[in-house]
Amino acid sequence: MKIVRVDVEMVELPAVTPAFRWRDGLPGSEPARTGAWLRLTTDDGVVGRAWCVRGVILADLVNRRLRQELLGADPFARETLWHRIWEMDRIEELPVYVPGVVDVALWDLVSTALGIPAHALAGTARTGIEAYASTVTFDTVEEFCDVATQCLELGYKAIKLHAWGDARRDAALVTALREHVGDDVPLMYDGSAGFDLADALHVGRACADADYLWYEEPMREASITSYEWLAERCDVPLLVAETSDGAHWNTADWIRSGCATYVRTSAMFKGGFTGALRVAHLAESFGLRAEVHGSGPESVHLAMAVPNTTYYESLVTSNPVVREPLVGADGVVRPADVPGIGWDAYL
Ligand SMILES: [Mg+2]
Repeated sequence: MKIVRVDVEMVELPAVTPAFRWRDGLPGSEPARTGAWLRLTTDDGVVGRAWCVRGVILADLVNRRLRQELLGADPFARETLWHRIWEMDRIEELPVYVPGVVDVALWDLVSTALGIPAHALAGTARTGIEAYASTVTFDTVEEFCDVATQCLELGYKAIKLHAWGDARRDAALVTALREHVGDDVPLMYDGSAGFDLADALHVGRACADADYLWYEEPMREASITSYEWLAERCDVPLLVAETSDGAHWNTADWIRSGCATYVRTSAMFKGGFTGALRVAHLAESFGLRAEVHGSGPESVHLAMAVPNTTYYESLVTSNPVVREPLVGADGVVRPADVPGIGWDAYL
């Protein structure tokens, strides 16, 4: 079997509505844009696809570099191709999501050819997983508490805050939400890299006092040392290495630093399933959890295949809250029983 066509199918998308923000100061929901499907076709007529939100960038890279690398290749040779992409990264400094787009399309193709779900190709660890509600930023503490109540009524088992990025306000919210939901609901906080060390400490101590499950990305992830210092000075478990580049090679240094209780793994940011499984297994060897990042069908399959993840991240972007269709009324996500990733089964 070999790849005989490499196509990029552009898709024009309207702005996301209702618009939302992750935190103050950070670009929020996507404006009108051009996304794309990467479509790989074999000489047997088997098709593998992956979605990329930045279609123009993907098309440029496919046209200049990736098509010639993939044409004629055996799609089962995912390891060979994965390392070829990293060779390209040395020259192109690829956006962190691009290696994942190629790899996910290959996993979709091969599992489709075999007639099995993508998670089965990876090795199924479970058949369903609880979802946590991953909020965007709402206007007031009262609105956050109202959203949390709705999330729990809709079946979500845990709640993660993305909040304003104002250390004083966010710390007060962290405390107020714990008081609102009681002691038994797992809570997490995601800073979207909004703080310096002093502000990260202030919010981290509030998370520790309120028994938050994890404290995620309070600072940019360029400096591992700053996270080591944070871990030394406050007592909440840190979740690290979501956006840092370099897949498992980079995660290894985060783990070695000792700051991590959780690491992120991600089809989008760690080089598809091939990179994300490496990250997960690396973390497992040190007794760490590798929590799967982000919503969508590829994240569902990854969460089924990673033994040391505990939740699926389901975005809650509106008030009134609308439960993501992938999440059942019992708050559990289960993969569609179709070959490949089965993109169409989730649309
Ligand atoms: Mg995050």
